[in-house]
Formats: sequence, structure tokens, C-alpha cells
Amino acid sequence: MSRPDLSQRIQHERQQRIAAHRLRTRRSVSRRDGVRVEIDGRWRINFCSNDYLGLAQQFAVVNAAQDTLQRDGVGSTASHQVCGHMQIHDRLEKDIAEWLQVPRALAFSNGYMANLAVVQSLLGNGDVCVQDRLNHASLLDAARLAGCHLRRYPHGDAEGALRQLKAEPDGAALIATDGVFSMDGDIAPLRQLSLAARLQHAWLYVDDAHGVGVVGPEGRGCVAEAKLGVKDVPLQLVTLGKALGGYGAVLAGASDAIEHLQQVARPYTYTTAMAPAQAAAAVESIKLARREHWRREKLTELISHFRHAAQQHDLPLGESDTPIQPILCGSEQRAVALAEALEWSGFLVGAIRPPSVPEGASRLRVCLSASHSVEQVQSLVDTLAAAWVLKRDKANG
Ligand SMILES: *Cc1c(COP(=O)(O)O)cnc(C)c1O
Repeated sequence: MSRPDLSQRIQHERQQRIAAHRLRTRRSVSRRDGVRVEIDGRWRINFCSNDYLGLAQQFAVVNAAQDTLQRDGVGSTASHQVCGHMQIHDRLEKDIAEWLQVPRALAFSNGYMANLAVVQSLLGNGDVCVQDRLNHASLLDAARLAGCHLRRYPHGDAEGALRQLKAEPDGAALIATDGVFSMDGDIAPLRQLSLAARLQHAWLYVDDAHGVGVVGPEGRGCVAEAKLGVKDVPLQLVTLGKALGGYGAVLAGASDAIEHLQQVARPYTYTTAMAPAQAAAAVESIKLARREHWRREKLTELISHFRHAAQQHDLPLGESDTPIQPILCGSEQRAVALAEALEWSGFLVGAIRPPSVPEGASRLRVCLSASHSVEQVQSLVDTLAAAWVLKRDKANG
């Protein structure tokens, strides 16, 4: 028998990861106070959370969750189709649909599963899913699970998407793209993509995990910002774990598309419904995200301050107007060394390296939040600039 031994295989893979310095570690946060986090007894300013609007610990949001927790308990106790679906889920779906101005919405446990659900419910053997090269991993996994062909186009290239669709004229087709790209912070060319989809009788699906709450009028996201409607984008993804500060996801779109997902999507049917307190928290954060424009205005101010300060120090910024601001470092070692230097100085910034980004495209991913102050942002940039020069001199000498 030549069956590989699984213990040996995982040992071997671990050794390879160690040799390549790619062992992933995690930290345990002991306390959190807005943008400050305590790790190993030291407080640091957090620049890697996706809590863009500062709602994760907002008083009214926490209260809403607490009230529901008291009344309804911790778990939903079953899947949506059995008895886990509660009125608060209806309310959440209704509020999202109203906010995004679409007919219907459907709550999911998280964005990863919602993406699996969309592609798997729409496409199968002989169909094609056309995707941006820098799409989130969950969209790539979704195409794999659906068993359709996956064709990728260069980042942000709508003509590339059109070419890929033309190359496969027979199966049903879906263009799937991030709205705001999670590692780059730039926005997909949704109007051009929508045109490509229309020309090729394909649907356009937008995963707006990082756009909703932050981008567009009333924070309605990239689709609204591009002035597209449900006819152009029959389905889009809203995550509750990023700008809305909670956990979970909602698909929003055309009635028949949403109804179809509710009937057939396995990641909807075969899992426990979102906890009611989570849904209640999201209902409250949506209210605040819509009403409190100052959160977006503050973000805009911080983004422009960050970019201006970084440019003055000649730091290599990405092309982003969103709270995701990459500093392009190139080598993995450099990105990691800079993140370590920043952490030592009291700032938490994510070093993003392959396979999350392509080889040679390692970066620091700075995430801004409405809860940061201008002084904190300035101090991050100054510290980063000093570390940047130091690391460069070390590399040269
Ligand atoms: C975070 C993210 C997801 C996954 O959402 P979760 O709710 O965290 O599972 C999907 N797509 C994109 C673009 C994301 O950034």
C-alpha cells in the first residue's frame, strides 16, 4: 500500500512553513477599549481592525444585544427553516433591504458562507464564474465548491472580464467581484463590469464586505455609489462583522434571486441561524450607520490626513480612498520587520504576505476607524517613517 501517512504529511508541511518563515501566529487580546487593545499586558493603538465606523463597542449597539440576550437567550437553537428564524431576523432583513433600496434580503451566519451560497445556488457543471484576480478567498472557494469553471481577469479590468465571458459562451455566467478590495482598498469598476455582464447575459454579484457602511450615500455601499440598481446587480453581500461592528452577513437583492437562495442554498439550510442578539446588535448599528454621517466624515478626514502625511514621508501608498490603506513593502521580511517595529512602539498594524497577496506584494495594511484621532494617525505615520528609514539603512548596510 502506498497510502501517504497523514501525520508525516502535516509534519512535512509544517517544516516547510517554518523554513519559509510563514508560520502564522495569533495574539490574544485581553481587553479592548475602542481603538486601544491590551495584549500581553501592554496597550496598543489598533490599526488592523475592520471596525471602520467604531460601532463594535458602541453603547446603544451593546445595549440592544444585551436586551435581546436577556429575553431570548444565547442561541437561535435551530436552522432558519426549522425554528431558529425569529422576528429579529425579519427585522434585520427588512432594514437592510430598505437601506440598500432593494426588494429583499436574507440573513446568513457569515460572509464566507453567504458567498458559498450564492455561487453554489446559481452555477454548476458547465457554467462559468468570472472573477477579479484579487477577489476575497471565499469567492474563489465558492466557485470551487460550485463545480463551475473559474476564470480570472486582471485586477479591475472590465474588458478582461468581458474577454473571459466571451471565451465561454455556452454556460450560465456570473461575474463576481469585491466592491472594496480587502487588501488594497480600491473599488471595483462596477459600471463597466455591469456593462460587460449585460452584453454577455451574465449576472454581476458584488461582495461589498468593506464598502457597506463606509462608501456611498448613507453608507449604502459601492453599488449605490456607482448608481447601479438591482437590475444591474441582482445580488450583493453585506457583512455585519466589518463597518457594522458585529458578526454575520446579509445578502440583498432581487426578490426571485433571494427566494431561490432561501430554497436551495445549502450554507443557508444546513446551519444554525444567527444568534438573535447578533441580529439585534446589527439592527441598531444599521440605524447608527445610516444616521450618524459624522462617522463617515471623520473617516474621510482621517484618510486624507493619513495619505497626506505618508506622502510627505515618501511612503509608498496604494491607490485607495477607503479606510483600507496599504503601505507597499515588497518583500515579506520587510513587511514583517516594520510591523514588529510598529508593535514595539505601541501600534498594531497587520503585515499581509503571501498567500493573502501575490508574491512580492507584501504590505502593511493600515485600517482606519472613525474612533481614531488625527493625532493617533499622525503618530502612526511618524513612527512608520522612522522605522522605514532604519530598516532601509539596515538592508543596504
Ligand atoms: C471578510 C470578508 C468576507 C467574509 O465575511 P465574514 O463575515 O467575515 O465571513 C467575505 N468577503 C470579503 C471581501 C471580506 O473582506
